[in-house]
Order: sequence, then structure tokens, then C-alpha cells
Amino acid sequence: MLGLGAAPAASEDAATTDAPVVTREVIGTSVKGRPLTVIHRAHEGATRRVLVIGSIHGDERAGMRVVRRLLDRTDLPRRLALWLLRTVNPDGTAADRRTNAHGVDLNRNFPYRWHSSARGSTWSGSGPLSEPESVALRDLVRRLDPWLTVTFHQPLFGVGANDKGMPTVRALAEGMRLPVRDYVCTGICYGTFTGWVNNRTDGLAVTVEFGRTVPDQRIRWAAATVVRVGTDR
Ligand SMILES: [Zn+2]
Repeated sequence: MLGLGAAPAASEDAATTDAPVVTREVIGTSVKGRPLTVIHRAHEGATRRVLVIGSIHGDERAGMRVVRRLLDRTDLPRRLALWLLRTVNPDGTAADRRTNAHGVDLNRNFPYRWHSSARGSTWSGSGPLSEPESVALRDLVRRLDPWLTVTFHQPLFGVGANDKGMPTVRALAEGMRLPVRDYVCTGICYGTFTGWVNNRTDGLAVTVEFGRTVPDQRIRWAAATVVRVGTDR
């Protein structure tokens, strides 16, 4: 079992067993200097690259429980290369606050349909990619080129419809027992991470919104669905 505090497995040890190789990498630091750590779990030669982001808004943390569950799973399919980012906003999650330490909504700070906005809970920052957390996540996605990225939010209870990848959206929604929702983006969805991934990279990003309180059963459904849909493409 691997917990968040576990040391990385030595690759020469992992090669002699059937366990997935586990590596940890710090991809950047937050405004307050907290490390942004991505954990990679995969068997050698795995080709289905899937990135899971537990939290981007610091007061929406249920997705971090999905990441924990994925860290602890011992039965990953051999084709699945999982990349797990518990939170891209560790300052926000530590403070139970939506924004990062600069007061920027990281999910409005990406360079797709970015525009300036008033300071407040959805402040888009002084410019696209003005925040170190956004830059680190942008660089990670560009480098990994995951076919699927799943980001968890609360509390709108649904899986966001996309301009692309709707069969995958529907499969995720069905497995997680959530409705597909067309979140109307007029005026509020500027500079989102998902919008940037879907319009500026080859990959598919899907927004999953849990409810306000999330039973363990739904966390289990979500983790199992990420593994199944992420592998079965
Ligand atoms: Zn959110």
C-alpha cells in the first residue's frame, strides 16, 4: 500500500515484481513555497496516460479522496499510466479557500478565453498564467500529453459536457452515477483549465463536480471509473 507519505519505490526493485512503478516528482511550488507533487503509477510500457487532479479550488477537496484511493490501489491495469496530483492549489487547500495565496482563481488563469476580472473569488489574475501553480500545471500537461485529464470540483453534482470526447464524458458520468450537465459558460468560464486543455492540446479534460458532501461510496465509484474509462479508450 502506498500512502501519500511513502517513499518512492526504487525502479530496480519494482522491475522484479509485478507492482506498478511509482515515482514522485515536484513540478513546481505554490506562491507560499509548498511543493506541487505529482505521483506517477504505471507498469512499464503503459501507454494510456491519465492525469487526475484532486483539487484546484482549495475549498473543494473531496477529489483528494479519489486521489488517495487511486494511490492505494494495487490492481492497476497494465496499460494504464496514472499521474496523480492531489492538489494544484496547496495554499488554498491548507487555508480552506478557493483561490491561491495571491487571491487568484487558478481555474480562471489559463490562456484560453482569458480576460481580466474584478478581484474576488473568481479573480482571473493579472494575466493568463500569472500564477506559479498554473504554469506548473500547464507545463505538466504539455509534457505528459495525457489522453484524459479529470479534475474534481464541488458542489454542482454533474460531469461537464464538452465540445469533444462526449462518449468518454458519458462513460465517466455513468460510472460515477452523476448526470451529464452542460455548465453554461457564458461569462463565467473564462480562462478555465479544462477549456485550455480541450482547445489548445490534443487531450481531453473533463470536469467532475461532486455534491457538497460526498459519501465514501461515491469516492469508490469515481476512482474505479477513472481506472476503467481511462484504460478502455
Ligand atoms: Zn471548483
